[in-house]
Amino acid sequence: MQKIANYINGEMVAPVSQSYIDNYNPAQGVVYSLIPDSDERDVAMAYEAAHLAFPAWSQKPAQEKFKILMKIADLISENLEELARAECIDNGKPIKLARTVDIPRAASNFSFYAQAVTQFWSESHAMEHHYLNYTLRQPLGVVACISPWNLPLYLFTWKIAPALAAGNCVIAKPSEVTPMTAYLLSKICIQAGLPKGVLNIVHGNGPKTGMSMVTHPHIHAISFTGGTKTGADIARVAAPMFKKLSLELGGKNPNIIFADCDFDEMLRTTLRSSFSNQGQICLCGSRIFVEKPIYEKFKQAFVSKVSKMQVGNPLHEDTKLGAIVSEQHFKKILSYIDLAQAEGGTVLCGGKAVTMEGEFKNGWYMSPAVIEGLPFDCRTNQEEIFGPIVTITPFETEEEVLMMANSVSYGLSSTVWTQDITRAHRIASYIQAGIVWINCWLVRDLRTPFGGIKSSGVGREGGFEALRFFTEPKNVCLKI
Ligand code: NAD
Repeated sequence: MQKIANYINGEMVAPVSQSYIDNYNPAQGVVYSLIPDSDERDVAMAYEAAHLAFPAWSQKPAQEKFKILMKIADLISENLEELARAECIDNGKPIKLARTVDIPRAASNFSFYAQAVTQFWSESHAMEHHYLNYTLRQPLGVVACISPWNLPLYLFTWKIAPALAAGNCVIAKPSEVTPMTAYLLSKICIQAGLPKGVLNIVHGNGPKTGMSMVTHPHIHAISFTGGTKTGADIARVAAPMFKKLSLELGGKNPNIIFADCDFDEMLRTTLRSSFSNQGQICLCGSRIFVEKPIYEKFKQAFVSKVSKMQVGNPLHEDTKLGAIVSEQHFKKILSYIDLAQAEGGTVLCGGKAVTMEGEFKNGWYMSPAVIEGLPFDCRTNQEEIFGPIVTITPFETEEEVLMMANSVSYGLSSTVWTQDITRAHRIASYIQAGIVWINCWLVRDLRTPFGGIKSSGVGREGGFEALRFFTEPKNVCLKI
């Protein structure tokens, strides 16, 4: 059985404990590789390597960092097929999605930040009476990046690339549920000539490996993406240690559809925004609000299309919905179908475990579900499910839909469908979310601020926001 290795001080190494965690192929429900069960000793070794590498890396001219980070981006692109296949097997997502979204975006994360750091700037403030202030933006030192399983390499590199570009050395931990592409990235970094110790990838579970990174006294910043509860656990420990924290957390995003929308385009995009990656994208819209005049038309058309969505082997080219990432998550998602029914909802389609044949018979599959008839404030409509389940709810007025949309504790993203430009801007300004898409979904310009409000997180990633997070501003005042 393949054993994944940690990447510490430029080398692939076994965990100090010599013990491993099972890694599952969710499409088959079988263990197919082993993940290092790292502990604080591995994190301490990674810290030593990163600490030693920091002086040279932080002094490297932007153009030299650019060359190395671009090389990593190029190698990700050259290995696209191998990485996409690995992501598909590890996560259960359709191969097409991994090939067209996950892996190209991982390459873009590196190329974007390779270039961004050559364009980064800081402020100066001239004062009367011959004084001048200027701001230095210096790297923090050794920082930690912790990422989730839903977009494994995509989100892992979204943190690592700006941290490295800004001149930090990094200890990174991918999710123990989907470690494979992070492991393959280690090999790419060696091939690209990244100096040893600049990036260290330590595998293991959250409470042990992740927490060892959070509690380490000399790791100065934690960039975390994952569940809201985990984010709160991390903040509880890191805040009294005065660490810088970037938290990208859960969501329960509203999708607001007005009667005057371009119906066909809205329908096509709403199918994607509901069920891409089996609904396991933090930006998926899981609460669909439809203006009353088109509610029945929408319901008929949407349910008819969702009922036809094929669940199948993620490695098949035409599979739209693959496997759910783990047995635990699969059971959690299905429990919400029972809850929705207990809360008075009607399941219009899907919501059932799907048993496949042959080697896939033990995989975790379910049919995509559409539920109606639920109050906006019930648990099904308030809690993050993070799977292929959406609810549909009619509304009459803007005030009513804003009240329902904003009623959740989350505030990550939102989608608005209307041809009325004034209304679109009005809704965008009142909606409680870090991201608003009008007549589109998941269109990403990497320069824009990315993140949520309320329980969806603290801080922003993307563009110069991430370079600012991974640097400390220092004001220097000089008498001229
Ligand atoms: P999770 O919180 O269980 O795990 C995320 C990462 O944190 C993993 O690497 C895990 O090992 C680690 N971890 C767990 N407990 C830890 C602890 N006590 N200390 C340190 N590290 C710990 O989340 P998940 O189930 O992997 O991912 C799904 C969640 O991520 C969903 O809530 C989803 O909305 C969220 N998410 C948010 C965004 C965003 O940009 N806001 C993007 C993707 C996913």
